[in-house]
Amino acid sequence: MQPDRSTIWTYDADGDPERFYYSRYDHPAGVAAEEALGRLEGGEALLYASGMGAVTNVLLSFARPGLRIALAEGAYFGTGKLFGLLEPWGVEFVEYDQTGPPPAADIVWVESPANPVLTQPDWEAVRAHGGFVVCDATLSTPVYLRALDEGAHVVLHSATKYLTGHHDALLGATVSRGEHTLRLRELRVNAGITASPDAAAALLRGLETLDERMQRHTESAREIAARLERHPAVERVRYPGFGALISFDVAEPRPVETSTALIRNATSLGGVTSTMESRHRWEGDRIPAGLLRLSVGLEDVEEIWGDLSDALEPLGRTAHRQNL
Ligand code: PLP
Repeated sequence: MQPDRSTIWTYDADGDPERFYYSRYDHPAGVAAEEALGRLEGGEALLYASGMGAVTNVLLSFARPGLRIALAEGAYFGTGKLFGLLEPWGVEFVEYDQTGPPPAADIVWVESPANPVLTQPDWEAVRAHGGFVVCDATLSTPVYLRALDEGAHVVLHSATKYLTGHHDALLGATVSRGEHTLRLRELRVNAGITASPDAAAALLRGLETLDERMQRHTESAREIAARLERHPAVERVRYPGFGALISFDVAEPRPVETSTALIRNATSLGGVTSTMESRHRWEGDRIPAGLLRLSVGLEDVEEIWGDLSDALEPLGRTAHRQNL
């Protein structure tokens, strides 16, 4: 179904604006998708032009010069990059190991689980900290985590990933309650980072199958992670037990990622088609040089494994020879 792409709606007979008047404020597809996501998360959702648009809006809404943010180490590299770019605005940030207590800070920014190192926040320690809590729950989705109930003040998603789920929409979301939502909404509207009606419609479509997709991602990824654990060419496997994302280390990632056929050698994650890439090309030395990030799609699990094990085979032979 095509969404209403109008940017304007006619005022009523008295010349007053009705529910919709200018699409930077609200539009029908956006509101419908926000209501659907808000119900799943137990709060009020707002949509943005991208996940990074949502990150930007949270900063504009709640950060102030001199405030300190404690950011989960190994979280999505773009988040830390933006924080760094905003240092001239007086935003100070430190990275910390989110499996333990956060350091002194005004805002605690966790990622559940962190992309790509797949650590989980210590929620008890986060609640005990007392700071303003932001949780990037992109990799959990509301199927596996309702972060507002865990103590987050704002939940954030790159809806580009699982929530829309088909690698065809760029979209971000926040979910919050009460005055936090009012503040986020005011900044979003005035900063102009509202989502497009097409991306909002993609979210509505994605949410219809989210549960089923997440279950299948999980079933297949558990199987692939278990097989990777036993593979001679694989040095380490990180898998949080749910979702599509597996990070594993090999001696030489490039020949592996470039020789798959079914698994696309591309960035991003959480889509119906499997994707895999070496993250070192983007993140440099903050992550292991041999780390491959695999997002297990909805294809037949035996076909995914066949493709991956063919790509790993030359490395496996070398590892085998070295062990002889
Ligand atoms: N947060 C996480 C955990 C991500 O993985 C990403 C993108 O990969 C983002 C935020 C940024 O989202 P977007 O690419 O939609 O701007």
